[in-house]
Amino acid sequence: MKRITLLGATGSIGLRTLELVSSFSEEFSVAGLAARGSNVELIADLCRKYAPRAVAVLNGAAVDRLARLLPPPRPELLSGPQGLVALARDLEADIVVSALVGGAGLLPTMAAIEAGRIVALANKETLVMAGSLMTAAARRHGVPLLPVDSEHSAVFQCLVGHNKGDLHRILLTASGGPFRELPKEQFARVTVEDALRHPTWKMGAKITIDSATLMNKGLEIIEARWLFDLKPDQVQVLVHPQSIVHSMVEYIDGSVIAQLGVADMGVPILYALTYPERRPTPAARLDLTRIGQLTFFEPDTERFPCLRLARAALECGGSAPVVLNAANEMAVAAFLDRKIGFTRIPELIERVLAEVPVGELRSIEECVAIDADARRRVQRSVDTLAGGK
Ligand code: NAD
Ligand code: MG
Repeated sequence: MKRITLLGATGSIGLRTLELVSSFSEEFSVAGLAARGSNVELIADLCRKYAPRAVAVLNGAAVDRLARLLPPPRPELLSGPQGLVALARDLEADIVVSALVGGAGLLPTMAAIEAGRIVALANKETLVMAGSLMTAAARRHGVPLLPVDSEHSAVFQCLVGHNKGDLHRILLTASGGPFRELPKEQFARVTVEDALRHPTWKMGAKITIDSATLMNKGLEIIEARWLFDLKPDQVQVLVHPQSIVHSMVEYIDGSVIAQLGVADMGVPILYALTYPERRPTPAARLDLTRIGQLTFFEPDTERFPCLRLARAALECGGSAPVVLNAANEMAVAAFLDRKIGFTRIPELIERVLAEVPVGELRSIEECVAIDADARRRVQRSVDTLAGGK
């Protein structure tokens, strides 16, 4: 029985992971669950269904409500950022699924690695922020970081059985999001509802907006650089609207190996949970005759500047990706709150990146401080913009 600690249990990845736990109930059990705590009823339901030994919620008030909803014997209840770290670090588990959204996942994910636990990583923002520190810690503790992100799972699968030295580059595919064909002059009028309508994937709000700006692909370039130890120019992006080819690896002899499948996060999640084995995923099967055509295009960084900003931050290195990520999180939140327009997202990120001098990233503490500083800067700009509306 594999015991799973699930960070981000109430989210899109978290709930899909729990569906797989139910489908393979002889194989997986739930050791711990963590979430923000905004939906206490859902967390209580998950506790009744999966009987975790401990639960951590960010929101302290949610713990009292959870205690009232769950009569003893109940799971151990932890709260606050330290509660999430304690859950990831102290609770016995065979694998920690890191599926919080954003920088909130950094300390718990690092804690899991430092406790020597295998990590199945969905929370790409953590690698964007602290890729060098996280991968170094994973090497030091001998723990694998198994990709959950569909593109990175694809690359991971295309690398099996090959020599790292034979790799030429990787080709990350992108659906192109809902605005793939939108003329540049219409971007300023994009609404929250338009941006939340993703053509192929059903996901949490933050990553859905990232997919609309293509920042998601920018973050994934940085994620791939760290997961697979590549040079920035070894990671290329191809727009592929059908989302059938999940990514490809090109070798030095010109051979390109691709991983294909229907767009269902169940496949990469289950592969991370059972790696190196596979299971018959309860998902639809790929029928290429029904799809008929697979098409590929160059991404347009004119209309999608976030892609350019992410690459620039990766090339700068050090603290630049921390600033990029923090600015993006704040700008996306402000857009979702209807405080700023869609085209302000890249503008704010670019401004903060230009403002903050790039430094080395020597520790997680430094990373946390740079992140907080960048967030304050964006917040000030958002307040000014919103005030001037
Ligand atoms: P989501 O918004 O649906 O869920 C996020 C989860 O994190 C929830 O359980 C929420 O309670 C928790 N959370 C959010 N903020 C928190 C905080 N400050 N402290 C503690 N808990 C907090 O997000 P999602 O779509 O499931 O995505 C999760 C991660 O996986 C993201 O990093 C995303 O980029 C990545 N990812 C998602 C998908 C997808 O299909 N949804 C695909 C690939 C990668
Ligand atoms: Mg992805």
